[in-house]
Amino acid sequence: MGLTINEILESEIFTRENIVSILESEGEDRTLLFKKSAEIKNKYIGNKVWFRGLIEFSNICGKDCLYCGIRKGNKNLTRYNLSDDEILAAARFAYVNRYGSIALQSGELESQFVADRIESLLHRIKDLSDGKLGVTLSVGEQETEVYKRWFEAGAHRYLLRIESTNQSLYNRIHPDDSKHDFKRRLDCLKSLQDIGYQTGTGVMIGLPFQTMDDLAGDLLFMKKFNIDMCGMGPYIEHADTPLIEHSEKLMPLKERFDLTLKMIALIRVMMKDINIVAATALQAIDPIGREKAVKIGANILMPNITPGKYRDSYKLYDNKPCTDDSAEDCQSCLEARVSLADAEVIYGEWGDSKHYSERKGK
Ligand code: SAM
Repeated sequence: MGLTINEILESEIFTRENIVSILESEGEDRTLLFKKSAEIKNKYIGNKVWFRGLIEFSNICGKDCLYCGIRKGNKNLTRYNLSDDEILAAARFAYVNRYGSIALQSGELESQFVADRIESLLHRIKDLSDGKLGVTLSVGEQETEVYKRWFEAGAHRYLLRIESTNQSLYNRIHPDDSKHDFKRRLDCLKSLQDIGYQTGTGVMIGLPFQTMDDLAGDLLFMKKFNIDMCGMGPYIEHADTPLIEHSEKLMPLKERFDLTLKMIALIRVMMKDINIVAATALQAIDPIGREKAVKIGANILMPNITPGKYRDSYKLYDNKPCTDDSAEDCQSCLEARVSLADAEVIYGEWGDSKHYSERKGK
């Protein structure tokens, strides 16, 4: 006979099989998981949340991921690219409001122009904040040299979701060409870690064709890779993407949501001191979805500080929340929400991954 959920959580023997039985748990067993993950968060991180002001600075993308609303092949949206001044104004907003950090995110483009532009923006963001604003980048796969330049210019965290660690599932949700190569994405993650970034990855949960065993494999991958940060969210279909064809294979949104909470709780139990994002996609399913994630293990929120007029065009999936809010709306709304989760927002601090400091012996 296998171990009970309680025995697995207490003994921390996270085999694939054990993880699957936790992911499938219901009722009291599910409550036990959430209780354990909340306890671990409180012990290792405290009941705290740090902000990363999210600037979605461009929806122009060179890739054609089959699930993503801003994929190159989607002609049903207006493409935009914020000016440098708009990006710097958003960064200044974050600094003045003591967010501690920003996250710069965009579609994936590799070019000399992009490499130079981001490097120069990083210097200017450091200048305008007296070196005090932390910066996370999430701009996809790049050459190692480019990652190095950006690290030297002041970016210290990088989020690159592997999307799925099962290569055959990865291949089913991406076009079959050299631009969407699983191995390259993995190599990029490795380079980021080698260069010295706090390295974050994650997956989408509830994808068509995905099994519980795949998700167990994803968690084991993150543990083995020794990530510092995790950003996972539910897959939500987008009408203008090829994957919409497989919608009938999907579990109901509520189940995808619940499974995402279990994944977050499990990674908190397995990797106690990493930073975990409460993904915006959770809120697309449940109005207090991110707060629920904070309660059971997440410690990072990303208030959207992209100028309002562009938000409607950064629709990765249908029903993306807050696309008509302003940055100020986002802040006051999130602060109220965090206190609903009985947690405290820590202002003016980077909120770096403790796991990273431990790993580096700092
Ligand atoms: N291009 C960069 C990259 O891939 O690292 C960053 C931007 S990309 C749009 C950010 C993330 O959005 C992806 O890593 C993916 O997990 C998520 N995403 C895209 N389409 C989604 C969907 N339909 N449902 C949920 N998440 C989605």
